[in-house]
Formats: sequence, structure tokens, C-alpha cells
Amino acid sequence: MENENQPLIIDGKKTSATIKEELAKEVVKIKEAGGKVPHLAAVLVGDDGASQTYVGAKVKACEQIGFTSTLVKLEADISEEDLLAEVDKINENPDIDGMIVQLPLPKQISVEKVTARIRPEKDVDGFTPANVGRMALNWPTYVSATPNGILELIKRYEIETSGKHCVVIGRSHIVGSPMSILMGRNDTPGNCTVTLTHSRTKNLPEICRSADILIVAIGKPEFVTKDMVKPGAVIIDVGIHRVPDETKKSGFRLIGDVKFDEVAPISSAITPVPGGVGPMTIASLLYNTLMAAQGRVYP
Ligand code: NAP
Repeated sequence: MENENQPLIIDGKKTSATIKEELAKEVVKIKEAGGKVPHLAAVLVGDDGASQTYVGAKVKACEQIGFTSTLVKLEADISEEDLLAEVDKINENPDIDGMIVQLPLPKQISVEKVTARIRPEKDVDGFTPANVGRMALNWPTYVSATPNGILELIKRYEIETSGKHCVVIGRSHIVGSPMSILMGRNDTPGNCTVTLTHSRTKNLPEICRSADILIVAIGKPEFVTKDMVKPGAVIIDVGIHRVPDETKKSGFRLIGDVKFDEVAPISSAITPVPGGVGPMTIASLLYNTLMAAQGRVYP
């Protein structure tokens, strides 16, 4: 039987604004106590348009809530050695609490080497092996932005996870894989029975139909259709795609990995695209930067 109620729309835009307000209040308190406000350094290599937009949004968000930010812009042809030296400089700068190196990086540079060079204490993106390991061990850590944002939405919307079957589609290092670990940890949110699926998975629609919570990070527009969803399931759509739309001023609209119009009516709760998971990522980064400044992960 189909769920006849309207689904709960999990509003990432609103939640992210609330988190930013909370963080701004923290900054006021820090200032009143005569403390140092959190400081984020963002490293941008080259002039890729999307990367510039993402980094610009992160720096702007810092300004909005009263954090200090430093943007380190480097040429696209920088050598790996010189980039590592820049990372070292930030590592050594006692005024900087957190650092991100915007990906992707140019071909001549090893992402692994650069990521491993970031001091775990300052790795507010949560990408270093040390912090990914701590996440898997359920130790205090910086959980990376997108998974952290999803956890925060689940928490704030009081979605029950314990004992539920969570199916994750996609096993990328930035979304699917960490989400599968986080949902299976002995924690809240967590305590799910998790199935992690990928391109070699057999019977994917059948597995999806057994999900109480379906987290979709496959990168294929509107891949998940109504026939793949159990009525009453909670749907977290991580995908984001631009599709041409002449009715829009911009000439395009955004859609997710889930066919929202047909899946939403049978779900109990769902993240829309846009306005679901996407807006949460910057809020997560800011939160991690506050944790770094307060020494809450590495006291
Ligand atoms: P990705 O690195 O491309 O990974 C896609 C995953 O989907 C892979 O694990 C792949 O399996 C799996 N897959 C591909 N085809 C499949 C199929 N037919 N059946 C089952 N699994 C299949 O993607 P990503 O970086 O995780 O991103 C996923 C989506 O989320 C993208 O649309 C991206 O733009 C979006 N995203 C959004 C945010 C946000 O803030 N909202 C953040 C990050 C990403 P294999 O491993 O076997 O290849």
C-alpha cells in the first residue's frame, strides 16, 4: 500500500541557515570572551570555473558568520613540490585553524600526496587517511562535508535509524563509502544494517526496494524511480545535475539522482534537489573549522 501522506521535505537550505546562525552566535561569544575567531584557509589551484565558485562560496560563508578566511590562489602550472610547500606553510601557521585544498587538482599533482600532507588537526575536509580512519573507528574526527551534512539532516529531522536497513548507492570516497560506514556505526544516527551498492551490484532495484533509508550518490540524473522504492522509505538524494530548461532565466534547472516527482509521494521523507543535501556542505565545513579552533577533535 502506498503512503498516502505528504512526505516530509527535508529542507537543507533552512537547516544550513540555522546552523550558520548558531555558528555566528558562537563567534560573538568567542569575541566577547576575548578569544581568537576561527580561521579557515582555502587553497585554490588554477582557474577552473566550478572550483572558483565553490571556494568563493566557502570564503563568503566564513565572512558572513564572522570567521577569518584566507584564500591562497596558485597558478595551474604550479609544481607538486611548490604546492606541498604551500600546504606546509599553512600547517605551520599557528593563526590558521583549518585548511582545505579544493579538488580537482591539475594532472601534474598527486591528490594523495597533497591530502596526506595536510596536518590531520587542520584537515577540516576530513579527507586525510588519519581522519577517515578515526571516522571508521568512531573516534572524534572531522567528518567530510557531504556525509556530515547528511548526518546533521537526519539528526535534526529526528529520523530513526537504529535497526533500519540503509541502502547506499555509490561507493565514492567522498560520499557513498563514508556514508555506509557512518550509518553502520554504533551511534546516533547509525546502528543501521547497511548495504553498499555500486556498478557491479546485481539486482539493484530489488535491494533498493528493501531499504528503509535509501541514500543515493550515483551521479546519474533521475536514476532512482518509483518502482525501486519501498513505500514509506526515507530518501536522501545526493546527486546534482544541470539540465537545460528554457522556462528558466538561467536556461537550466537542477535535478537529482532520484526522480523526485514520482518518488516523493510514496516516501515518508525526502531531500529535494536543489535545497536538500547541497546547502549543508558549507555549513559542515564551517562547523568543522569551529571544532578545529576549539581543539575539540585533537585536544
Ligand atoms: P562518483 O565518484 O561518480 O561515484 C558514483 C558511484 O556510483 C560509483 O561508486 C559507481 O560505482 C556507482 N554507480 C555508477 N553506476 C552505477 C549503477 N548503474 N548502479 C549502481 N551503482 C552505480 O560520484 P560522487 O562523487 O559520489 O557523486 C555522486 C553524485 O552526487 C553526483 O551527482 C555529484 O555531483 C553529487 N554530489 C553532490 C554533493 C553535494 O554537496 N550535494 C557532493 C558530492 C557529490 P563504481 O564504484 O563501481 O564505479
